[in-house]
Amino acid sequence: MKNFLYPTLHWFVRAIIFIFILTSNSLYSQYDKLASDVKVLYEGQIDDGPYIEILKKNLNVAVIKDGEVITKEIPKTAINIKFKPEASIYKGVSKIAAFSDLHGQYDLSLKLLEKNKIIDKKGDWNFGDGHLVIVGDIFDRGDKVTDILWFLFKLEKQAFQQNGKVHYLLGNHEYMIFQKDLRHINKKYKKTSKLLNTTYTDLFGKNTVLGRWLRSKSTIVKINDVLYVHGGISPEFVNEAQNLGSLNSKMRKSIDIDIDSKKFQNKYEKYFLDNSPVWYRGYFKDSLTEGDIDELLLGLNVNKIVVGHTSQNSVKSLFSNKIFVVDSSIKNGKKGQLLFIENGVFSKGTLNGNRKQFN
Ligand code: CA
Repeated sequence: MKNFLYPTLHWFVRAIIFIFILTSNSLYSQYDKLASDVKVLYEGQIDDGPYIEILKKNLNVAVIKDGEVITKEIPKTAINIKFKPEASIYKGVSKIAAFSDLHGQYDLSLKLLEKNKIIDKKGDWNFGDGHLVIVGDIFDRGDKVTDILWFLFKLEKQAFQQNGKVHYLLGNHEYMIFQKDLRHINKKYKKTSKLLNTTYTDLFGKNTVLGRWLRSKSTIVKINDVLYVHGGISPEFVNEAQNLGSLNSKMRKSIDIDIDSKKFQNKYEKYFLDNSPVWYRGYFKDSLTEGDIDELLLGLNVNKIVVGHTSQNSVKSLFSNKIFVVDSSIKNGKKGQLLFIENGVFSKGTLNGNRKQFN
């Protein structure tokens, strides 16, 4: 009996793995198809885009080129348009890199990733089974927001193929766009929305590819024993943040609730006040002691918290390496750093590709 069962089981497992490889590969060839279809329209010299609307039968691709709109309909099968909500907890990850507040600085962000070998010279994933965390705020200020979004759209698929992972956490500027607060968008995007005869918010509506993709993202994630969130968790939010899945799902739900409605005010407004996960700056004020931070970490069942949002001139640590800040002012387009956590060792990666360990 034993002799018979083992080979059967063995082939069964092999078949499962083979089917998995087959289906995951077809997903990527679909993406390649999009790339070749859309590339015809935008290779090299487009001003902005593509923005892809999901129609009943087809996808409508729009790009801006030489100040004019070019559109093309492509089949719905050309690209993945279904995205599952991201998980909130990951364990057993041996290497992690994190940065935040990219604010449309595509060139500087890619240079930083390349110098630190997260991507190669062609912009492809080079971090193996590592996890890259973007701790919020790709939108606003700079003029290459769309470029970063499509770059990450591609990169997360490449990472997945190597058992790696890209986590794009939503920051206050992502939510500002959803909530029609367009005070900080680059003038390029005012022009784009005018040309496309829509609002910038609607360019990321739930019937667009990027809009659906963004709606699958989390606001907070726990990887090993470290929590990542754009602003931070204030003492008032510890209870809510004990259930990460539920917090992420509420944040996701808020995206399509009109900010002026009673429902938003009653149920969701508190997630966007000064002490909320995407807006909080309390770790940088004098009112919290290290004892308060210890209590906070205990309540959240984590050892450390990584935040962005409050700009520094480098990646820094606070409260004896319990809080790490990864907003290194990339938004100014000149400098930037990454935080690395490799087998429990914390260091910063510079724009030259050097490492400086935290003691
Ligand atoms: Ca921010």
